[in-house]
Parts: sequence; structure tokens; C-alpha cells
Amino acid sequence: MFQFRDIERVPRRERADGPEACRRKGGDVEQYELVVIGSGPAGRRAAVQAAKLGKSVLVVEGRKRVGGVSVHTGTIPSKTLRETVLNLSGWRERGFYGRSYRVKQHIAAEDLGTRLDMTLQHEVDVLEHQFQRNGVRTMCGFARFIDPHHIQVTEPDASELVVRGERFVIAVGTQPFRPDYIPFDDKAIIDSDTVIEAPCVPRSMAVIGAGVIGIEYATIFSALDVAVTLIEPRDTFLDFVDREIIAEFTHQLRDRGVAIRLGSKVTSIEKDKSGRVVTTLEDGRIIRTEMLLFAAGRMGATGSLGLENCGLAVDNRGRLTVDPKTFQTEVPHIYAAGDVIGFPSLASTSMEQGRIAACHAFDLPMPPAPQYFPYGIYAVPEISTVGMSEEEVKAKKIPYECGIARFRETSRGHIMGLDTGLMKMIFSIKTRRLLGVHILGEGATELIHIGQAVLNLKGGIDYFIENTFNYPTLAEAYKIAALDAWNRMPRQD
Ligand SMILES: Cc1cc2nc3c(=O)[nH]c(=O)nc-3n(C[C@H](O)[C@H](O)[C@H](O)COP(=O)(O)OP(=O)(O)OC[C@H]3O[C@@H](n4cnc5c(N)ncnc54)[C@H](O)[C@@H]3O)c2cc1C
Repeated sequence: MFQFRDIERVPRRERADGPEACRRKGGDVEQYELVVIGSGPAGRRAAVQAAKLGKSVLVVEGRKRVGGVSVHTGTIPSKTLRETVLNLSGWRERGFYGRSYRVKQHIAAEDLGTRLDMTLQHEVDVLEHQFQRNGVRTMCGFARFIDPHHIQVTEPDASELVVRGERFVIAVGTQPFRPDYIPFDDKAIIDSDTVIEAPCVPRSMAVIGAGVIGIEYATIFSALDVAVTLIEPRDTFLDFVDREIIAEFTHQLRDRGVAIRLGSKVTSIEKDKSGRVVTTLEDGRIIRTEMLLFAAGRMGATGSLGLENCGLAVDNRGRLTVDPKTFQTEVPHIYAAGDVIGFPSLASTSMEQGRIAACHAFDLPMPPAPQYFPYGIYAVPEISTVGMSEEEVKAKKIPYECGIARFRETSRGHIMGLDTGLMKMIFSIKTRRLLGVHILGEGATELIHIGQAVLNLKGGIDYFIENTFNYPTLAEAYKIAALDAWNRMPRQD
């Protein structure tokens, strides 16, 4: 759909600090103080941080261009696609002009691809420049450990060279889990990497897996008026999000026609004679769609890293175990960061992990990480959350009170034509401190940072009551929700 591979075909710029800096196998071996494997958010941050500390750094990247899953198939493509869909479909204006309103009547795959190509090209340029500016050397090829201090790099033309690293950061990320029983063809049956190359916008789509990625794509395609069926074997989804937010979100999805099939496993997936994908569920239901997106899990991309040669082993999902404070593996000079170490598997957290790993590797003391980081789920509508959910607060037996604001209560919400959107805040009754913020609706992933700041600075309800907010803004919802909670909280004399 989005011809993103074209970008990968663009010849790499000649770099003075490129592969020629290393010697071919058999010759002298080039040495680096840090070798980073993978150029996604974790690898990039580790490399730049070490370079800023004056270290010699090499980044080895298997793809033809730097950026990792984040830039090429994950975060940036899915967010660009989302933005394009919302703009071309006129989604944000439908509150005013009705559900049939569209900026562009017929939205085709090419319409979605153009913006994606431009965005990705820009992202890659920024990254390449960042590496050049900081003197980080990059090399295109797949790395494999041959012993704890040496990797062999296989370049695209199959030539091989050996590099020695004093220290390593493994930041190889993940790849989609592709079960054998699913006949992937990357056209009608796709995964979370190939979805951005899908040849057309289908009329109907089944999405298997109601995790963050599945939910994001299901709702993006639904905003294009594709008939989406979301299938999840468990009875619940997005369990780390406050249940009240998920109840509201589920209601909105059902209201706009997304079929949600929870609690039933998929027993078979096949194509019928007309090329439609037939998905059969354990409870006997059959779902026929033009396209199927399998988005149920990803595996650490460690299969061909030769970890056995450096004394490391992975779990059953290909992930490495590290010290959660330093990101050191069991082999002290080898660090791992990003999705390859598992939860929370976000670009945002991966960057921090990479930075901390590099600092620890070169003895730069790091302050402890703040207690709370936000989650952003770029569904349509957005969900964002920081701190404890109501369920967690209850489980910890903390006396609490909640406040709710609806975006339609704010003047900005009115102006924007928002008839949905919700902010929920949770406060401790005893200390009056903020415990959690949960937002569903337009701008949620931006708005959440106000809550994050107050939470990590250990602020309380009075901050929101006493401070003046810009008007008209959606951020006013903070004041409204805080006042809502304050009305129910015991008075302080
Ligand atoms: C569809 C989708 C949407 C997402 N949306 C968001 C979001 O909105 N916000 C967010 O924070 N996160 C999001 N994520 C998660 C985010 O993309 C990841 O957390 C992030 O990319 C992980 O970064 P990383 O550095 O661990 O590795 P990656 O970005 O996965 O990069 C790893 C790199 O290592 C390379 N590599 C692998 N093996 C080797 C080898 N042997 N030799 C050399 N190179 C190798 C790979 O080619 C790859 O380029 C999304 C993910 C997906 C799939």
C-alpha cells in the first residue's frame, strides 16, 4: 500500500567513515570502544551517548538504512498512516458535519503512501545526520558474535568482516511472530511489519490480537470505513489501562461498527476460491474478510546473533535478560536495551534504556529513572495513561477519589466539535497527591505529560485547583476533573 520499500532502495550516501574503516576478515581487525548492534531507538541513543562521552562507536545495522523498526515498519509509519487517514477522511470534523463527511471521497493506497514516504525519508536523514555530527560510524550488515569480544558482519554483497568491541549494546529489537498455521502471503494475510506495504485499502479486515498494535491498526482502518473485526482470544484487552477508559473506548468502537470478538481462539485461517480470507473461531463463528492482519505478538530478533558464542541465552520469545537498572547482561561488557529485553517495548523507553546502558558502560553515574512514564496508544481515538489505574489503587488499598472531565465540557472541545473524549484523574484522599491520569480522546498522548510532570514531582490536587490554565484548551480538562474530585474529597481545615 505504502511503497515504503522504495526508501530502502535509495543508495546509501557514501560515508567517509563507512565500512572501509574496518578490515576484511583475515586482516587487522578494527577496534571500537563500543559496538552497537541495531540502529533503532535503543541503539541510536546508546551510540550517540557514548560518542558524546568521546568514545569510538560503531553501529551495525542489518537494514540498508538506519532507524530500526521504529522508523521503517513500526512507530513512525503507523503514526504517519494514522495522521494521513484522519486528515484525508476528515475524521476530526465529523462531529460537526456528520459521519458521511470526507475531505477526499475515494482514498486509495497511493494517497496513504505519499506522506509516508516523505516522513520516513526525513526521519532517516535526521538520523544519518545525527550519527555523522557525533562521529558515530555506521555499517550496513548483519552482525553475529564469534566470541565475547568479536562480531562478524555480513554485508549485503555477502562479504564478511570482523570487528572487535570492548563493549557491546545489543539493540536488535523484534520481528513479528508468524505462527506456522497462518498462510501469510503479505498481500491478503499480513503482519504488523507488512501492513504498511499492503497493496490496497480493503473493504473488510480481520485483526487478530487486541494488543496495542492490533488496536491501533484496527481503529485506523475503521476510520477509513473499512469493516473491521477485532479478534482476541482473551476475554479482556489492554489490561494495563484503567477499566473505565477501556469500557468507554469499547463503547465507541462498537458504536461505529467495529465487531469485537473476545474470548474465542482462532482455529483456522485459509483463503477461499475467491481469495477472501476465512477465519474460523473456536466458538464456531466464521469471519470472511478481504484482508487479515495478524498482530498477536513479536519475537526478539536474536535468532542469528550467535549468542551462544558469547555466553548468552534467550527466553522462549527470543528475549534477553538484563539488570533492570544498568541494562547489563550476564556478560558484564555486553548490554542489551530496547524491545529485545521485553516490556515495556516502546520507542520512548527504548531510547532511555540505550542512554542508560551507554552511561553505565563508561562509568557515568546516572540518577535513578523517574517512577512513572506514560503509555501512548495511538488508536482512533487516542488513549494515554500515566501512574496507577483505579484497579491498582484499589488493590493497594489506598483511600482514593476520582474526578472525571469530558472534553465536551471544555470550550476548546466545543470549538473542535468533540462529542467524545474523557479525562480521569485519581487522587489519594490521605495525602491529596495525584496517583494516576487516564485520557481517552483527541490529543491524549500530548495532554498526558502535564499529569506525568505533576505525578513525578509528587504534586497533588491543589496544583490543578490553584493554577491558571490557557483558555480555551483541552488541558482545562485537568482543572475540571480535579474540581470534580475535590467536590467529593474531605475538606481540609
Ligand atoms: C506497528 C508498531 C507501532 C508502534 N508504535 C509505537 C508508538 O507509537 N510509540 C512507541 O513508543 N513505540 C511504538 N512501537 C514500538 C517501537 O517501535 C519499539 O519499541 C522500538 O522500535 C524498539 O526499538 P529498538 O531500538 O529496541 O529496536 P528496533 O527499532 O526494533 O530496531 C532494531 C534494529 O536492529 C536491526 N538488527 C536486528 N538484528 C540485527 C543484526 N543481527 N545485525 C544488525 N542489525 C540487526 C534491525 O534491522 C532493526 O533495524 C511500535 C511498534 C510497532 C511494531
